[in-house]
Amino acid sequence: MDTPTDVLNRVFGYDSFREGQQEIIDHVVAGGDALVLMPTGGGKSLCYQIPALVRRGVGVVISPLIALMQDQVDALRALGVRAGFLNSTQDFDERQLVESEFLAGELDLLYLAPERLRVDATLRLLAKGEISVFAIDEAHCVAQWGHDFRPDYLELSTLHERWPDVPRIALTATATPATHAEITSRLGLDQARHFVASFDRPNIHYRITPKSEPKRQLLAFLRDEHPGEAGIVYCLSRSSVEKIAEFLADNGIAAVPYHAGLDARTRAAHQARFLREDGLVVVATIAFGMGIDKPDVRFVAHLDLPKSVEGYYQETGRAGRDGLPATAWMAYGLQDVVQHRRMAMEGDEAHRRRQVLHLDAMLALCETVSCRRVMLLDYFGQKGAEPCGNCDTCQAPPESWDGTVPAQKVLSTVLRLARERRQKFGVGQVVDILLGKKTAKVLQHGHETLTVFGVGSDLGNAEWHGVVRQLLAQRLLAVESDYGALVLTDDSAAVLRGQREVLLRRDALRPVRAKVATSAKAKAAVELPAEAAPLFERLRAWRGATAKEQGVPAYVIFHDATLREIATVRPSTLAELGTVNGVGENKLAKFGEQVLEVLAEDA
Ligand code: ADP
Ligand code: ZN
Repeated sequence: MDTPTDVLNRVFGYDSFREGQQEIIDHVVAGGDALVLMPTGGGKSLCYQIPALVRRGVGVVISPLIALMQDQVDALRALGVRAGFLNSTQDFDERQLVESEFLAGELDLLYLAPERLRVDATLRLLAKGEISVFAIDEAHCVAQWGHDFRPDYLELSTLHERWPDVPRIALTATATPATHAEITSRLGLDQARHFVASFDRPNIHYRITPKSEPKRQLLAFLRDEHPGEAGIVYCLSRSSVEKIAEFLADNGIAAVPYHAGLDARTRAAHQARFLREDGLVVVATIAFGMGIDKPDVRFVAHLDLPKSVEGYYQETGRAGRDGLPATAWMAYGLQDVVQHRRMAMEGDEAHRRRQVLHLDAMLALCETVSCRRVMLLDYFGQKGAEPCGNCDTCQAPPESWDGTVPAQKVLSTVLRLARERRQKFGVGQVVDILLGKKTAKVLQHGHETLTVFGVGSDLGNAEWHGVVRQLLAQRLLAVESDYGALVLTDDSAAVLRGQREVLLRRDALRPVRAKVATSAKAKAAVELPAEAAPLFERLRAWRGATAKEQGVPAYVIFHDATLREIATVRPSTLAELGTVNGVGENKLAKFGEQVLEVLAEDA
């Protein structure tokens, strides 16, 4: 029997396991149940794929990501793994073929949509074959409060009753204690061993930048730091998705939109282009990206504030799965806070309370003056990490300043405006009054006669916006849901009376750029020496043509990291090529000669 390490080397072509993988795999191979919490890009797939290859029988993978099953199976087949899937997109003949392969013992892995398990015929089919392991991917789908709750997933608790001897491994990247507990109880995994990997993604540089002109800022970020590279830009609304995609395209960046309002064909086509082409930018609502295993996404940009830290971390985690440097960039400003504070007031009481908790955590991350990564890891239960050196606040630590007096000026202006029963006022009017601007609206309401008129000339417009933003973030100020008018909160009084200090963050004036990552792990990622760059480009061109010919995404042929290593090492024999990370037995046999030819052209 092959050992897990044999399979890792021979089939996947990787030298060594990533953190956590080996223990998990050994445990499942030995027949134990497991619950695995690992960040996006951490390497969960191998944790069930290798046991499926080592143990006798077929590994059954339950996954909600129907649209991606074909790609997952293609990627496995490229490695020489016998994989198939059953879901609602197939016609009768296609299903028959897979079923007969399953029965004949000709499959190593079978991917199933969860609703298949409700169909008796599927259960009867599974009963006739030999199953090595059940893998429950995206296991947070059983959690009621998760965003993608699937009633089908509740059925999965019965697997253990029907197949008591088959080990089960449930995997998720959602790791808050509440979700963890819910997965455990709903899937009956109290007896399972729980593996909680580090949630750190050291190769991702985190940056949250003050929003001034978001489109221009985004364009500069893409041009300066990620020209010609693949990435995802997240926006809150469909209309902003459309506008930003058009804006980027007008500025010479290959970009396409993706949101639920587009028809299914267009969506599928844009997703396929993203997976298959090198360097496409997708501008999307959060509907995009779940389960996409494109390893070379070089950046994830947020033009709007995500609703929760969980959401933010999942979305940004889609960058840099290959371990090479990647950027998580967000532009964040006053309007984000106003909009989200208003949205958080919708729905019933319990829903509101949850939204507010999520939003407070997200705002605290945006406003922190200390390391973003430390805060993120702390949020996921990993306490006491060291400052990372690879986020904006580490690289250019923002100052904090005593903003008590400016806060009092804002709050007393709001207090005075609130006395006018006939009309409500938003941020703009408050700041105009503080700055002493005699605008038409100020004069119309006689606001130039207020005692606070002009008391804020010590700060500029942008700085006042920063003050109001942070007061909202700290809940010292609130917005009304219907008109967006500013109102005081229970905590405002203490500030007005001088009983409470207000600490504010001074926003960076100059934008921070990603420096070359300083952490050892991020450095370990293969760096490309300048002299190897032309060869790397030629290998990329060869890969693009080959992928096209075979109708698979480029990364299914080889990852960027593998091509970089080939370009750097310049192996001259098949044996040497076989030692490169990511070159397994099957790919060596299939592509080895061609790669050597590309290398020889260079000589
Ligand atoms: P997750 O499902 O946790 O988001 P994946 O299983 O898709 O992550 O793995 C992320 C990427 O890392 C994949 O491209 C995979 O091929 C690669 N990978 C996983 N394990 C290893 C390893 N031991 N060595 C090198 N690359 C790995
Ligand atoms: Zn940091």
